[in-house]
Order: sequence, then structure tokens, then C-alpha cells
Amino acid sequence: MRSSELFLPTLKDTPKEAEIISHQLMLRAGMVKQTSSGIYSWLPIGYRVLKKIEQIVREEQDAAGAQEVLMPTLQSADLWKESGRYDDYGQEMLRITDRHDRDMLYGPTNEEMITDIVRTHIHSYKNLPKNLYHIQWKFRDEIRPRFGVMRGREFLMKDNYSFDLDYEGALYSYQKMFLAYLRTFARLGLRAIPMRADTGPIGGDLSHEFIILADTGESQVYADAKWSELDTSALGLDYSDKEKLAAFYDDMTSYYAVTDEKHEPENCPLSDDKLLTARGIEVGHIFYFGTKYSAAMGAKVQNSEGEMINLEMGSYGIGVSRLVGGIIEASHDEQGIIWPASVAPFQVGLINLDPEDETCSAFCNETYQKLRKIYDTAPFYDDVLYDEREGVRPGFKFNEMELIGIPWQIRKGARQDGDSVILKKRDSDEKHDVSLEQALNILQDSAVIKKAA
Ligand code: ATP
Ligand code: MG
Repeated sequence: MRSSELFLPTLKDTPKEAEIISHQLMLRAGMVKQTSSGIYSWLPIGYRVLKKIEQIVREEQDAAGAQEVLMPTLQSADLWKESGRYDDYGQEMLRITDRHDRDMLYGPTNEEMITDIVRTHIHSYKNLPKNLYHIQWKFRDEIRPRFGVMRGREFLMKDNYSFDLDYEGALYSYQKMFLAYLRTFARLGLRAIPMRADTGPIGGDLSHEFIILADTGESQVYADAKWSELDTSALGLDYSDKEKLAAFYDDMTSYYAVTDEKHEPENCPLSDDKLLTARGIEVGHIFYFGTKYSAAMGAKVQNSEGEMINLEMGSYGIGVSRLVGGIIEASHDEQGIIWPASVAPFQVGLINLDPEDETCSAFCNETYQKLRKIYDTAPFYDDVLYDEREGVRPGFKFNEMELIGIPWQIRKGARQDGDSVILKKRDSDEKHDVSLEQALNILQDSAVIKKAA
């Protein structure tokens, strides 16, 4: 993509309405535009990041054996009346009436709809287990939308739902998602800590919130200080190895980590010096709730003894659009955003410092074509931002690339002769004079070029 063509409405000043750094930077970097309270349009740079996050979430769901579907945003109220949640959900639910006076709603979540799909089509234990997910916009009329996309009213969520015959199967489904979540967040460059969450009135339920630490987080968290060192990047377990997975799950959940709802200072097993107390952002939530919806909605299957029994269910959410802000909270400096290579809007920026110079421009044009070939990766197939603009000061170009967080820059001016270029990494001030070939080798060795697995 050429900078002269890119729609990148950056702002010089920090917008006053933005309270936290991620929201400020998203507006300054021209990623989103608010259209009404808690509702945003995604502009090119922002949408590229959102799509890349979505794709990583998708790949890890698929790897864990979940199957993608797509359910509509608008739902009939009838299903929610069956489950009893139509009244319970309260004012967060956006209720709509169609022209025939039928009660509709903009889905805040999809337990009812997926339960209806499964009860319609699955009647036997032979068709279990199933785990279905979709990545779809949700609407919750939050009383206080704030922090930009972090607490919006319309937001993108990955939600999936597992269906099993018995508790043992449901626990296995839960453990697979537990691992899938850790893998997902690690690929997004995040350390997300699974915290034992409040499970509500039904005993025996299981629930973990995945929380990343950030001063601006809305949750107060208490965790074993070990969590800050724990290596969660080596997560190459085989999902089909039930025993290893269970052992991994038991190990990971043996470290203390809870939100304030669960923390009782008098019963905390850790001394103060071993306890990490921090603020955190919830980026995901997994939940086992047994037969709550299947019983209410009559989702039964026949077991091997021929009895009809209620399905065991779990649901699992990831805040895909919240993650855009969450990653920025975790990774930025005074210059702007520092994207992990896996989700950067462009993986590399090429800056022509002397666009009026013919030799320099010819070299840059050629380099751009070479880079495009290398960065021919999903989902965009053009992951190079080429700043070839004439009449734009080099300092302005540098600042813009830094603000929007491109992981690597290749700079070329008339002063770098032959095939020498300047290579700069976003998260370091060092600049290296290298040949173009060396630069490409360095990029190749870094994680930047790796195609999606
Ligand atoms: P919160 O406590 O932050 O309101 P929740 O418990 O209501 O979250 P879930 O229903 O578990 O959230 O939804 C799954 C995920 O969707 C959350 O972990 C979060 O990442 C994301 N999410 C929830 N509400 C919002 C929102 N208003 N804006 C953006 N993302 C959200
Ligand atoms: Mg909520």
C-alpha cells in the first residue's frame, strides 16, 4: 500500500474525550471514528488490525476442533422468553419491534440461538461432542460506554458453545478451550492470566476470566507473583492427549489468580510479598454451566442406554474488538503504538527519504515490489506500507510510522549509496546501516515474515 493512497486520517493533538492511552492512540492513528456513543466505524488501519486478531482467534479455534458458523445479529425474542432471560437481561438488551409487531433484539450473546440449532439437529449421543463458534457483532446497551472500543455498545466477539453428553466430556471441552485461549493470547503478544471467576448461583460451575494486566484495567486482580514469569508461550500440547491436557490444566490452575469478587484476604494462601496485586482488562471468559439452557429449552439427546438426557454445555467468549485496545494498553511508548508483528496493520514500512531523486526512487520502487512478494500473506496480501510521498518531510514520515506502530522500517535516501539502507525496529532507537539483502535476511529471521500457520 502506498502512503499517498492510504486513507489514514491521523490527528496531531490528543482528543480530549479519550481518557486512556489506547483510546487516544487509536484516534490519533486514525484507526476508528466514533459514530455514536460506544459505536465505532473502523477505518483502514484499525480494520486491518481487527481482521488480523480475528484471524488468529479463528485459527486457534479451528486447531482446537471448534467449527465456525455464523448466526445473525438480530434475534427473535421468543427463544429468550423460553430461557427466561428476556426479562432478566434488563436494559443492556436492545429491543426492536419489526413491522409485524414482533419482538426482536440485537443479540448480546447467543446461548439461546445455538441451543435452538442444536436441539433441532442433534438427538443422539452419537453426534456428540460438538463445539460451534462464530465471530459476530454484539450489542449491549452498556450504561457507561467508555475507553473507546474497550467498553463499546456494539463490539465484535468470538463466542463458542460446547455440547457434551456428560460432565467428563464437558470438562475436556473446557480444558481444550482453556489451552486454546492461552495459545491465542500468546500469539497476540499478550500475557493473559486465567483467573478463577465468580460462577453465580449454580454450584459446581467452572469459570475463568482471562485478564491482561494494565493500570487502566477495570478489574482488580490478585495473582501468584509467579504468573509474571510463567512461560505461557510453549503451549504446543496435543489437544487429543486428554491426560496431558488435564495435567497441564491442573498445573496452570494451581497458581493463585482471582478477581476481587473471589479474593478473600483472610483466606489467601500467599504472603504479601508473593502476591501480585494489579489492575487488569478482561479479554476472554470461559464458562461451564451444565444443563442451565438445555433444561430450560428442552435440548435433550438419547444416551447409550436409550434415556433422554439434557445436554451439558459451556460457553466461551473473546472480546475481539476489545483486544485492539487491550494490546495497545500493553504495548506503546511516547511515540505511539508498538504492534506485535502478528497483528500490525502493516508488517514493514518502507520510507523513501528523497522521492525527488530519480535513483533513490527507482531503488525504492523496486524494493517495494520485492517486499510485496515476501509479505504476500493472509489476510491482506499486501502487508507493506510504502511512504513514497513527495513534499512530505522525512521527520513527518518517521513519526507517522512510529505512531501507527509498524514493527520495522526500511529507510532509503540519496545519502545511502548503492544498495545500502537503514533498518530500524519500532521498539528500539537503534538504526542499522545494512545492505538491502541483509535487511531482508534480518526480517526473514524475525517473526515478522512468518506466514500464518
Ligand atoms: P465485562 O465484565 O467486561 O462487562 P462480560 O462479563 O459482560 O464482560 P462476557 O459476556 O463474558 O463479558 O463477554 C465475553 C467477552 O466480550 C469479554 O471477556 C470481553 O472481552 C468482551 N466484552 C464484553 N463486553 C464488552 C463491551 N461492552 N465492549 C467490548 N468488549 C466487550
Ligand atoms: Mg458486561
